[in-house]
Amino acid sequence: MFLDVKDLAVRKLRIRKTYAPGSVDFHSSEIKQLEPLEVNATAELLEGQIRVEGQLDTKIELQCARCLEPVVEEVNRAFDLFYAPLPKDEKPKEDRLKDDDTEIGFFQGEGLFLADVVKEQVLLALPLKVICQSDCRGLCPNCGANLNHEECRCETHATDPRLAPLARLKQDWLKKQ
Ligand SMILES: [Zn+2]
Ligand SMILES: [Zn+2]
Repeated sequence: MFLDVKDLAVRKLRIRKTYAPGSVDFHSSEIKQLEPLEVNATAELLEGQIRVEGQLDTKIELQCARCLEPVVEEVNRAFDLFYAPLPKDEKPKEDRLKDDDTEIGFFQGEGLFLADVVKEQVLLALPLKVICQSDCRGLCPNCGANLNHEECRCETHATDPRLAPLARLKQDWLKKQ
């Protein structure tokens, strides 16, 4: 769906749109949309700026930062965004339309795609890092075993770095026997 300034100049637009999983590209293999993404919003032209206000809801699967197992995050985000026109010869600073919640965004040309707005709002709603459970033990750095499910035979992950000198002493001692 394209939000065209010429249309918005005539009337306020009521938006009810559903994006099926896979139809919004989040540019990350670690972000997987599990359920249809519902957008309920209005778009209008206010003093030359495009205002998009509403709510989006979906479920996203992320990876646990420690053990890489899937973690499901519910996304329910309300937004009220303003996009100002950017002169043709000027390039946006980044790929993103907007940096954070307070800063104003920009659009170039005739308007902007709703999917870009939606993608950005989802990314802003997601935590930078998730863990599946607060005591997730992660993967063994040696053999890659998921330590939540199994004990491996490596000793490195169990070794407290403060005890490393002791462990070395013990090894030396064992060698001498
Ligand atoms: Zn985990
Ligand atoms: Zn291991």
